[in-house]
Amino acid sequence: MSSLNLYDTATRTTSAFVPLKAGEVGIYLCGATVQAPPHIGHVRSGVNFDILRRWLIKSGYNVTFIRNVTDIDDKILHKAVHEESPWWAVAMKYERAFTDAYAALNVLPPTYEPRATGHVTQMIELMQLLIERGAAYAPGNGDVYLEVRKLQSYLTLSRQKLDDLMPAADADETYKRDVRDFALWKAAKPGDPSWPTPWGAGRPGWHLECSAMAKAYLGESFDIHGGGLDLIFPHHENEIAQSEAAGYGFAARWMHNAWVTASGEKMSKSLGNSLQVHELLKSVRGIELRWYLGSAHYRSMLEFSHEALAEASVNFRRIEAFLNRSVELLGKVPTPVVGKAFSDAMNDDLAVPTALASISEALRIGNSAITSGDMTAVAHSADEIRGALEVLGCDPFDSAFVSQGSSDEMTQALDGTIKLALAQREAARIRKDFESSDAIRDGLKALGIVIEDTAQGPRWSISQKTEGSGS
Ligand SMILES: [Zn+2]
Repeated sequence: MSSLNLYDTATRTTSAFVPLKAGEVGIYLCGATVQAPPHIGHVRSGVNFDILRRWLIKSGYNVTFIRNVTDIDDKILHKAVHEESPWWAVAMKYERAFTDAYAALNVLPPTYEPRATGHVTQMIELMQLLIERGAAYAPGNGDVYLEVRKLQSYLTLSRQKLDDLMPAADADETYKRDVRDFALWKAAKPGDPSWPTPWGAGRPGWHLECSAMAKAYLGESFDIHGGGLDLIFPHHENEIAQSEAAGYGFAARWMHNAWVTASGEKMSKSLGNSLQVHELLKSVRGIELRWYLGSAHYRSMLEFSHEALAEASVNFRRIEAFLNRSVELLGKVPTPVVGKAFSDAMNDDLAVPTALASISEALRIGNSAITSGDMTAVAHSADEIRGALEVLGCDPFDSAFVSQGSSDEMTQALDGTIKLALAQREAARIRKDFESSDAIRDGLKALGIVIEDTAQGPRWSISQKTEGSGS
């Protein structure tokens, strides 16, 4: 097997991945600020870095994967006012929504999933260290700032010049030594949640959280830090500034996933509403949505369209149909095997599009082997395809997907049954037996099935109210 090469945002080059400690990989991925239900733009990094994690595991590494939860933030406080709920109830509600979305997409749970509010002690310790080392200061207003002019290096990831930088828009400038100094800690405002510190009550700045939690779970130095492209500046630059000023090695490699775009733009909140994960999962299975989100190279923008999603679903179902047929023909579930073409593609900075081409090729060979009756070749293709799907998190035999109905049979049976009932209703209407036609409609309605008469004939859907979650 060739060795793994990965791109590093810091060096702008692809190089051989060598872990700090043989056989072990530590990854820190910036997680969600839990203030709204996730749309697909929010979960793409979860899927992309899950593919990295699964590939590392498949390559024999023991992976410690940290993805934090930012559960205190201005946006959460605003949402709490808007929803007339306590801030912590808002954070919990949307944390659960993210957890559900990740589970539906078969993203492995992180090894540890630290919440910011649970790590204030570690943040205070880090600030104390930064003040002792002369890198941070508490001017007496309750804020604590990092003094960026004192840093040996800054802005190395985004390659900006300090003199070109705008003032950090996170605090009252009157107390800053330099307008570009950023807040590690923010003094409490009346009515806002706060935690006591030696410098006054307040709450953490976003950047400080990640430096403190990465140190707590992965140590002073670790292998890979990940996140979305939009986090490079200021978030990741400021994480580096804090951790390096504390004397830590911090991340040996930086990886960033590109955005999901809609009409070429980064997905906005208004657009995102219709593309919330739980909305899309009404029309497509989690395994298919995952297949679609993971199909582009992680560094390429993924331009969302419903057509492309539908096409991806159809392609995935073809692969699934072949695997199911192989089970019928061979009397056994395929054994996951990683093929060379797939492995070479993944080792080339996770070149998923090339890896998908290797799956298509195995599918072509497998289907023609079915036609020619070559069962050895059918088994070979099925094993390789399942091995590839496992790494991509889309293995239909994975128990994570069984509850989603890994075959279409249930859906088809339900659709057929409802269409039969609708045909009976239509026949009753034609013979003007309105009592019977109404009884059929009401019976379906009682089961939560809504009938809509359209120009193309009646259409059915399942009423959302029957799901019982109350959300
Ligand atoms: Zn972060």
